[in-house]
Amino acid sequence: MSRAISGLTTVAGIAGAPVAHSLSPLIHNSWLAAAGIDGVYVAFAPPKDRFAAFAEGLRGGSVRGLNVTVPFKEAALALADRVSDRARAAGAANLLLFEPDGAIAADNTDGLGLLSALVSQAPGFEVAAGPAAILGAGGAARGAVAALLAAGSPEVRIVNRTRERAQALAGSFGPTVRVFAEADAEALAGVCLIVNATSLGLGGGPGPAAALQAAPPSVVVMDMVYRPLTTEFLSRAEGLGLATVDGLDMLLGQAGPSFEALFGAPPPAIDVRGLCLAALEEGG
Ligand code: NAP
Repeated sequence: MSRAISGLTTVAGIAGAPVAHSLSPLIHNSWLAAAGIDGVYVAFAPPKDRFAAFAEGLRGGSVRGLNVTVPFKEAALALADRVSDRARAAGAANLLLFEPDGAIAADNTDGLGLLSALVSQAPGFEVAAGPAAILGAGGAARGAVAALLAAGSPEVRIVNRTRERAQALAGSFGPTVRVFAEADAEALAGVCLIVNATSLGLGGGPGPAAALQAAPPSVVVMDMVYRPLTTEFLSRAEGLGLATVDGLDMLLGQAGPSFEALFGAPPPAIDVRGLCLAALEEGG
């Protein structure tokens, strides 16, 4: 993947803390090389209390744009001059574009990633078929709620360890978003989708202790966590014979529209999932 960097090279990247193990540089640079685009995508780890100053310094477009990950997504939204509807609904931005006129535009493609993962790994799944249960009430859960409602979900149920956080999330969406206690098996009755949007399972630990057998056998179980790719939560779902969707396709699904916004062309059709799987196997 050796490419010459010139004075014309478009620079973009990802900002997070930590960010060293992000797969985004691998994904975007593989696409850039395959498409023959004169661009480069690098990782930035600004000090946690300096993100706003870092992003403000990029006004004018010396860097074309940034994907933004934990813990900067809410701060990214707050400093933008123009905010897309889906970023506003998600309450967070995972993409900032530094326009030539000095403005910062914010978008959120995480929801597109979630929906495209469902399309690719759960063919036939229909978001309008029934309620969806989201486990977690953090930034990823909020984005998932916004995306599912926008895609036609009739009801979203929030199940979270800290009930107040779940209530705050539900309150910002209205009556189609309901809060259930972790121990309430009714939370999963009749759902067509269950999404783990907690950080449980990251690094190989146990996932959420949701009673998956309370859901219909047609339910699709998705995990946003992709390290490991097959989490304990997905293993448990597979053991019950349920359809599963892993978090890597969500990551790839948010990267595609980000790439197009940053570099002005759709990603080329290469096996970037295979490259990511190889990197994950190597511990990358
Ligand atoms: P966050 O804002 O920090 O929220 C973390 C959530 O996990 C909260 O709901 C928290 O519950 C819950 N949680 C943490 N530890 C818990 C425990 N021991 N028991 C029960 N609940 C616990 O994080 P986030 O940004 O929403 O991200 C959540 C996960 O999604 C992360 O693993 C992240 O890597 C993943 N993610 C993946 C993608 C992708 O593209 N695949 C995109 C975005 C995020 P409390 O409210 O009770 O603290």
